[in-house]
Amino acid sequence: MKIAIDGPAGAGKSTIARILAAKLGVLYIDTGAMYRALALKALKTTINLHDPQDLLELALHTHIHFELNDQQQKVICDGRDVTEAIRSPEVSAVVSQVAVHPAVRKQMVIMQRDMARNHSVVMDGRDIGECVLPDADYKFYVTASLEERTKRRIKELQANGYEVDEERVKREIMQRDHQDSHREVGALKLLPDSILIDTSALTVDQAVTKIMKIIQGAQI
Ligand code: C5P
Repeated sequence: MKIAIDGPAGAGKSTIARILAAKLGVLYIDTGAMYRALALKALKTTINLHDPQDLLELALHTHIHFELNDQQQKVICDGRDVTEAIRSPEVSAVVSQVAVHPAVRKQMVIMQRDMARNHSVVMDGRDIGECVLPDADYKFYVTASLEERTKRRIKELQANGYEVDEERVKREIMQRDHQDSHREVGALKLLPDSILIDTSALTVDQAVTKIMKIIQGAQI
């Protein structure tokens, strides 16, 4: 079974996808974490983030995988645990710039399809239903109002010890959404065969239950 979950920043996709995968007993692949890991690595070099060739070279020489450790999924980049580092505001600020380049995306999609090969998966990101798993059994577009997404992102940043400026967080989400939905390749969009899940007024459990009902209902 392949389940694709796409949607804008801070909509709760990753949390929902992780729980869903655990309930279904399948692999969870957070593709945003992969773009973040590449962005983090690029920030540590002198690479110009506007240079697609340099970024592609970097992507080709970067190994990203996921490891399950004490029920927690860890993001490992070139052997280093970057699970926390990739969530920093510095990475959030540049990740869409890294993800805009078609050649970089092509390489990422190859890696993501490889990870999903021969496995049942829940995969979340922006272009999963369209580019990575176009034949997915279910495609969900998970979203929430900008206000709600801003609130959630602030909570997440504060929980990780960051000081936050509400207006800045909101602006960053808006900019990222704009970049992610207006690029040439792999743009975020609601597909004709996606099921829209608006989580603005839902708890995580309610959102997961709603999705589970759709999956189980369709299987009866
Ligand atoms: O999901 P998350 O918000 O962590 O993703 C970080 C960024 O990675 C997105 O804003 C987007 O620029 C990029 N991304 C992407 N395609 C995906 C997943 C994430 O371009 N499939």
